[in-house]
Amino acid sequence: MASTFHLEIVTPDRKFFSSEVEMAILKTTDGEMGILKGHTPMVVAVGIGPIRILENGQWIEAVLSEGFMEVLPDKTVILTDTAEWPEEIDVNRAMAAKTRAEERLQRQLAQVEFYRSRAALARAMARLKVAKEIK
Ligand code: ATP
Repeated sequence: MASTFHLEIVTPDRKFFSSEVEMAILKTTDGEMGILKGHTPMVVAVGIGPIRILENGQWIEAVLSEGFMEVLPDKTVILTDTAEWPEEIDVNRAMAAKTRAEERLQRQLAQVEFYRSRAALARAMARLKVAKEIK
């Protein structure tokens, strides 16, 4: 059996995931990162996008928004603003959020509004991707 580490994903609302896993792959601000047992300890910023988790030989997928991750050799903890499984994603809501963000980004925006709208668009696109609504 492959060696495992403990993965915990926590949002302000709930403990989203807590289990022994073989591997996790997710987006960080430095690019895609894969975590296995025994990883060098570090703290990294998590980016908006999918997380793929290998648990008991099966890949499962979810979508995260921004947050932080602490990696230790035997345990990884991700604190993120939001996390959803594909079946939890309300596709119509994500489509509407995508349209709103795209419309806002057409306008002249103050810098803070520009960054907010860009992040909202990234969240909507990531949700639609994980819900398999867009390729
Ligand atoms: P919206 O404008 O639709 O609220 P948002 O990207 O601003 O989208 P967030 O602030 O990222 O929403 O999330 C707020 C809460 O709503 C979180 O608990 C998140 O998991 C949930 N959520 C957001 N969008 C969806 C969606 N399309 N389907 C299911 N849950 C969602």
